[in-house]
Amino acid sequence: MRISLSEALLLPLLGTAMLLATAPASAEPPAGPPTPWPVDRCREILDKTLPVHLAPDLSALTAGERAAVADLLAAGEILQRLYEEAKHPEAAAAGAEVRAAAAAGDPAAACRAELFRLFQGPVATTLDNRREPFLAVAPESPGKSVYPPGITAAEIEAFLAAHPEERAAILGERTAVRRATAEALARDLAALARHPALDTLHPGLADRLRALAAEPDPARLYAVPYAMAWADEHVALQRLLFRAADHVEGDDPEFARYLRNRGRDLLGNDYESGDAAWVTGRFARLNAQIGAYETYDDALFGVKAFPSLSLLLRDAAASATLARGMERLQEVEDALPYAPHKRVRADIPVGAYEVIADFGQARGTNTATILPNDALFSRRYGRVILLRGNIMQHPELFAIAERRFRAAVAPAHAAELALDAGHLRTLWHEVGHYLGPDSTADGRPLDQALGAWADALEELKADLVSLFAVQRFAAAGTIGPEARRAVEADGVLRTLLEHRPRRDQPYQTMMLAQMNYFLDRGLLAADGDARLTVDYERYPETVAAMLAEVLALQRQGDPAAAEAFFTRWTSWTDELHEPLAARLREAGGPRYRLVRYAALGEERP
Ligand SMILES: [Zn+2]
Repeated sequence: MRISLSEALLLPLLGTAMLLATAPASAEPPAGPPTPWPVDRCREILDKTLPVHLAPDLSALTAGERAAVADLLAAGEILQRLYEEAKHPEAAAAGAEVRAAAAAGDPAAACRAELFRLFQGPVATTLDNRREPFLAVAPESPGKSVYPPGITAAEIEAFLAAHPEERAAILGERTAVRRATAEALARDLAALARHPALDTLHPGLADRLRALAAEPDPARLYAVPYAMAWADEHVALQRLLFRAADHVEGDDPEFARYLRNRGRDLLGNDYESGDAAWVTGRFARLNAQIGAYETYDDALFGVKAFPSLSLLLRDAAASATLARGMERLQEVEDALPYAPHKRVRADIPVGAYEVIADFGQARGTNTATILPNDALFSRRYGRVILLRGNIMQHPELFAIAERRFRAAVAPAHAAELALDAGHLRTLWHEVGHYLGPDSTADGRPLDQALGAWADALEELKADLVSLFAVQRFAAAGTIGPEARRAVEADGVLRTLLEHRPRRDQPYQTMMLAQMNYFLDRGLLAADGDARLTVDYERYPETVAAMLAEVLALQRQGDPAAAEAFFTRWTSWTDELHEPLAARLREAGGPRYRLVRYAALGEERP
């Protein structure tokens, strides 16, 4: 689960997709064969893009750690390509073509190559928040490339109704779904034959594929593990992780063990050993998120995780401070307005890091990460929290946040935001994912029970737990009134949106729900010019009330009830939301962020 400092602004980079079926008619992409965007359309986006350059000082690393960094960056490049391919089947070919044309000196192609880097594929999020190809490729499909092209949720549900035994595989977090054509089956069987290790780790799979191949039927669906869908790449990843492990064996044996476990996980398509080693490991200077974790790109069922890698450098002093802040964890869990409460680990591994480089689904200006999402693994081993300091404290990103806040609130509130407040709110947002119900009252996993609403509810819960925890800390005297006020102001900033959210945008949807709820409870009030005043006295009661509703919806696990809740709280009016959004658009500056990494040889623009 991720969160960002400049949430509304970075969301185009989070890989959210438009569900064409739910978009208004005017938002349909233009008909006709796809054509590359002209240079002026391309420029229009890049002119609204803030370059962010990350260049942490790696001089304290040992020679072994530096060699491991090189291998992990190479692994990241593989996962980057897999991510692009998972999002669009034509990404690799279209990307290679546009980069070649750019290298040959075509300025329009150079511009489009830059867009490809920004959007990690051939589909842009336009200034009016639509998803549209900018290269000559097919429009994006909600299931991207991890389901058969153009398939509908209804067809998959119909298939599962007839084949209930396939549900776990078809809706698995790390499986690719295919139509049982002779061609697809032959390709998968060839991959198994090429890599005996995969055949060994997935017993029975070859027989199952052969049985399907005996009677190919495109109406029949089947699923293969990612390890097999991208077999050559996964074998290469495993080798790179093992070699990186050898490099750090002497300096950081626990990190080395984690890398080897994760290398095996990738081939076995089962992350338990690596997740256990990751969450409970005590590493030296390096850390890394490796594999497919987040499901935001799956606009069909919201269950498929997409490939990622983040390579991080630990900030020892800041990490020690954070660990002390975790001492009140159980107290916050016990105070949450739901029952029954659970025991939470007192020793959640929370660390402050600098981003060396991000790849695939993890690329962007996310300020923090908490993983794994898997309910069983997090119950068994806990979850690791990685705060990303060189994003959270990036001066240009904070300056934008401050301009947006000032554009939204009455002048009396103008100075209430503070750079450090974002840290605390972000930290407790991440911890918030750790607290509250792990499953519905009748024992179903939240993701499966709540379907398309699971992410929006989970992120909303995390935001509210953060604001709730800060009230507790302030009441207990753990934090001072100024810090409390700054976090509360940051909570108001969190609700500000430049654009009316689409239903398939979980972050924006829950941000709008908070704004409307806060307005309803008098925590926020808007004057005739849609300028907000904040009644901070109303914070504790408002947050507790909304949190109680959200926790109840999670316990209930009824998607219809969740939909009714979001329908009620996500109205968008011409009197308030639209003029406020217009002011934010004007104040916010660049809409998109393009992150470049010194570790990849990318220079400050
Ligand atoms: Zn989150």
